[in-house]
Amino acid sequence: MTFPLECRGVSIAYEAESVLRALDLEVGDEEVLAVLGPSGSGKTTLLYAVAGFVELAGGEISIGGRIVATAHGQDPPEERDVGFVFQHYALWPHLDALDTVAYPLRRRGLDGDGAASQARDLLERMGIAHLAHRKPAELSGGQQQRVGIARALAGRPALYLLDEPTAHLDTPLRVALQEELAEQRQESGAAAVYATHDSGEALAIADRIALLRDGRVVQVGSPEAIYAKPNDVWAARLTGPASILDVEVARAGRRESVLRCDGRTVKVRGAVPDSGRASVLVRPDWAELGGDLPGRVAQVWYRGPYTDYRLETAVGLVEIRRDGPPVARPGERVDWCLRRVWAIPDGAPEES
Ligand code: ADP
Ligand code: MG
Repeated sequence: MTFPLECRGVSIAYEAESVLRALDLEVGDEEVLAVLGPSGSGKTTLLYAVAGFVELAGGEISIGGRIVATAHGQDPPEERDVGFVFQHYALWPHLDALDTVAYPLRRRGLDGDGAASQARDLLERMGIAHLAHRKPAELSGGQQQRVGIARALAGRPALYLLDEPTAHLDTPLRVALQEELAEQRQESGAAAVYATHDSGEALAIADRIALLRDGRVVQVGSPEAIYAKPNDVWAARLTGPASILDVEVARAGRRESVLRCDGRTVKVRGAVPDSGRASVLVRPDWAELGGDLPGRVAQVWYRGPYTDYRLETAVGLVEIRRDGPPVARPGERVDWCLRRVWAIPDGAPEES
């Protein structure tokens, strides 16, 4: 089986400092793989390696079944069928936006008029058709990024590399970019690696998510699995709002378990170890306001369609999300209930 992208044991070091450590990853046909990690975890370095901008210290990278890089040599970026949108990748200074986007279209064999008309269309979709004749120096950072996105889309590569592509975009444009990518993927079957530090974005756009920590992939899975079953406390906090509660186990089951919280018996969905006590993850949608556990509202955040509440409880701070505007204010006593938990496999306290 050939993958659009396969990384085997990839290691990269800047000077003596290693940044990627024996990293294994593959991206399947038509798959969007989100690489989710905090700033400095190595996302940009990984994408640079795939594009051909940094050398490997070890391992190998294949694109479409062809080895493009090892520690002993590598193909230049222009010989890899990738389209990239990087945070700091400059546009050609001498070309205006229209020519920049038309260039890959002409390389694909379109004539001048056809390329110009498709380029205009892509600029339109990125909301910058009126800037078609400006050069990079006459465009803002966000506008330049949109030109870069349009150029990558125009090349119709087999593999996209997107490095936090929405960082400088307003929400409607983010959605436009995500829609455009989804559409192209359906038409052309392109695959993509999408680096982001934003868990919401990763969950929304990815078929699979790889969590990157200090240059190592620490977990790979579907968005649902990554959200519901993180490997450890670090992964739980990276992938969404996470309350980590210390609970007493009354009966450990495989699908349902019974906990004791604050002297009360609580039946929940989820397996816990038969260990007396357990450290469990609770997502904001796994607990509800109303029920027979007592709590006190510490914070309230109104978000429009829903409201987030942080409660002080006998088992720790619990975040709860509820549809609609706020129904309680900070300082008020409220009751709550627990519906579901995930016993964190490595439930040891988080390292600082
Ligand atoms: P991310 O994109 O996840 O924020 P990067 O890949 O940019 O992470 O950086 C990973 C690590 O490599 C960081 O510790 C960063 O300081 C270091 N680094 C990145 N680029 C260079 C470079 N050109 N020279 C030396 N160190 C670098
Ligand atoms: Mg980066």
